[in-house]
Amino acid sequence: MSFSAWLSELNRVLIVFVPCAIAGMVSGNMVVFFIIGFIAYGLWTAGQMATLKKWFDSGAHAGDAPEFIGIADQMVSGVADLQRQNSARQDSLERLVSQFNELTAALPDAVIVLKPSGEIQSSNEAADNLLHISPDGDTHSRITQLFRDPLFTEYFFAGKFDEPLEVQATTTGDKELSIRIIPFSEDRLVLIAQDMSQTARIHEMRRSFISNASHELRTPLTVILGYLETLSGHPKLPEECKAATNSAELQAQRMKQLVEDLLALSRIESTASVAKESEAIPVGSIIMDVVKETELSATICQHDIRTQIETDASLKGDLQEIHSVISNLVNNAIKHTELGTSVQVSWKMADQDSAELSVADTGQGIAPEHIERLTERFYRVDAGRSREKGGTGLGLSIVKHVVERHEGHLRISSELGQGSRFTCSFPAHRLLLENQ
Ligand code: ADP
Repeated sequence: MSFSAWLSELNRVLIVFVPCAIAGMVSGNMVVFFIIGFIAYGLWTAGQMATLKKWFDSGAHAGDAPEFIGIADQMVSGVADLQRQNSARQDSLERLVSQFNELTAALPDAVIVLKPSGEIQSSNEAADNLLHISPDGDTHSRITQLFRDPLFTEYFFAGKFDEPLEVQATTTGDKELSIRIIPFSEDRLVLIAQDMSQTARIHEMRRSFISNASHELRTPLTVILGYLETLSGHPKLPEECKAATNSAELQAQRMKQLVEDLLALSRIESTASVAKESEAIPVGSIIMDVVKETELSATICQHDIRTQIETDASLKGDLQEIHSVISNLVNNAIKHTELGTSVQVSWKMADQDSAELSVADTGQGIAPEHIERLTERFYRVDAGRSREKGGTGLGLSIVKHVVERHEGHLRISSELGQGSRFTCSFPAHRLLLENQ
């Protein structure tokens, strides 16, 4: 309480007691007039308190604050100050909320604030367009009851939101959606759904362009290669033309391999993201076949290839694709290492939850800065050397795609001067064990 408040309170005391003191002195009855003074002061103060209470009860609006003298006046102006500060704070909060609402309304992506149970707290206009969740009518409903997609329901309740979920929203006109959920406080999640239809269309156009162009190139290339093979083996071919014909044949073969790899890649991309479990692939015997084929091509194979088949588990998936994984990895281990390097191809259970197919060599290894990028299309550590060896730069990209389509993952570890290891792990539910 300020000094001026006590002064004005003293002023109020004087207003009551000075007249009482004068009347007491004049009448010679000081005690009676002091008692009257106390009663008057008490009644005045009680009146002030009653008015104050009435003002508080009516909402204590600063505009109709009662006027008092003394401490009560100080209390009224204190409350009025607090109210002004609160209303300024509330204004700025309202401005923030309305800016946030304008921002989310302007977003082309659906934004939905959820409770961990899935109860919708708020959503924007785009949520209505993309997921049919209305910002007005659907608040407090459960998202899994409104957006009924089994993949989404599973994703939401699994609670693992590191990766976005790609789904097709059939209810809103076959839109390709990418859904991301981000926890942003202890009991709130924000769901962001993005329409990927345009991106998917462009992706599909690119894929079908590559596939068509490769198909168109395949036939003329086969004819050219056929003529070149006949020509280079022709007994009457002049000596000075031999080198040129051989080189043309080599390049045509390289081009054929490139076309085959491009076709393989676009075939893998055009099929479902998860391979059907239609075939039981005997991985062990495919390893043996690939190794035999490689050893038979004696012109290139002067490596020490060993196999280690520790399990007879089969893998459920696409035989042609798994064959291409094994042959790509084995051929790489031969192509990219010195003659005489040892290569170990193995198939074994890693633990109860997975089986591993790995190809390890004791070659020159790969520097760490390249490892992350090896599975990018056309990425090569040494492009010139890879071309010389007939590489296309697509092999590991195909391997990664196929392994992921079989719900596995590819790990690459390598050390310069020590060798490299390419490991493909497949989950238990993709395996068919002999005793099952
Ligand atoms: P490429 O057709 O060139 O073999 P890949 O995609 O199969 O294309 O491999 C990409 C690059 O990774 C290769 O060019 C090579 O530099 C490197 N690489 C792959 N396997 C090995 C290996 N076993 N040892 C050393 N380098 C390798």
